[in-house]
Amino acid sequence: MFGLIGHLTSLEHAQAVAQELGFPEYADQGLDFWCSAPPQIVDTIKVTSVTGQQIEGRYVESCFLPEMLAARRIKAATRKIVNAMAHAQKNGVDITALGGFSSIIFENFKLQQIKQVRNVTLEFQRFTTGNTHTAYIICRQVEQASEQLGINLSDAVVTVCGATGDIGSAVCRWLNARTDIKELCLVARNQERIQMLKEELGRGKAMSLEEALPQSDIVVWVASMPKGTEVNVETLKHPCLMIDGGYPKNLTSRFNHPDIFVLNGGIVEHSLDIDWRIMGIVNMDVPARQLFACFAESMLLEFEKWYTNFSWGRNQITLEKMDQIGKASIKHGFRPLLI
Ligand code: NDP
Repeated sequence: MFGLIGHLTSLEHAQAVAQELGFPEYADQGLDFWCSAPPQIVDTIKVTSVTGQQIEGRYVESCFLPEMLAARRIKAATRKIVNAMAHAQKNGVDITALGGFSSIIFENFKLQQIKQVRNVTLEFQRFTTGNTHTAYIICRQVEQASEQLGINLSDAVVTVCGATGDIGSAVCRWLNARTDIKELCLVARNQERIQMLKEELGRGKAMSLEEALPQSDIVVWVASMPKGTEVNVETLKHPCLMIDGGYPKNLTSRFNHPDIFVLNGGIVEHSLDIDWRIMGIVNMDVPARQLFACFAESMLLEFEKWYTNFSWGRNQITLEKMDQIGKASIKHGFRPLLI
């Protein structure tokens, strides 16, 4: 059995969907209440591969909210993640994806040190960040959506916002080795880590977002921002392809412009309907078929019986592993969401 540990994007979002998830008593509660709420299994899932194989899964709502980080409720945030992991393990889940901020919190607050959660000894090989599949899907979105829009990669300046992150660095590795993009701009706050990435890649220009946006034909957004950022359409090149892989989204702007294309990044579409409710709750356009690539990774590991923490740690995603998960993705009927 596979599992997905997820969270909602804001307190407002959580309050709005509490009723739908079957927890009406959560609907008008504030952050304090969510800080003490335990994890819950709120969905059972059946997925059929195009090979005919069927698997079953569970969705664990961790009750983490990005506002907990802004309010410096770090202890509550970290408790949410380890409690959700223990809950998944206790319920017999073999391989669970740590969706959205779950893996970021796990890494940033070094939760690998916490092995014991009450009577559960966490077995980390039962968890995956899902970031290898997410990075692979974003790279395929860059390649395929640019072709759809007639943007020639060999003439294109590509900016990766969040370049030094786990997903961002893998995307940079792929773009560097597998495409002929003209230029790669690297955006993140910590300049030391940018420097290390530049050395690893042997290319790339460190830039601020303000410098990078006006020159970019393609922008990949994979920064771990608890709240989205506003971008002025006047500062963008036309046409411009924006691939927003953030959860919550990195971009809050709705560009009503025929030359600015915003694609939901790191999202896959399955060839067959999935029996679940949860993707409707996180506002996917086609909830029966569209899902986060990190969640799809745990499904792929279950289909293939690769019971291992396939994606783990930080900045260790290799092109070989992206190829491996990419092949499994195609085999079981997933494809990158396009425009
Ligand atoms: P990491 O924490 O590994 O990396 C985050 C990156 O963002 C770092 O380079 C960080 O560098 C940079 N960053 C953070 N804040 C800012 C900022 N304000 N301006 C510029 N750069 C910033 O995160 P992940 O790679 O694990 O995840 C990235 C995003 O992808 C998250 O939003 C996550 O929720 C989402 N995600 C989506 C998935 C999907 O299936 N679609 C799956 C998993 C994650 P620095 O701190 O130096 O600025």
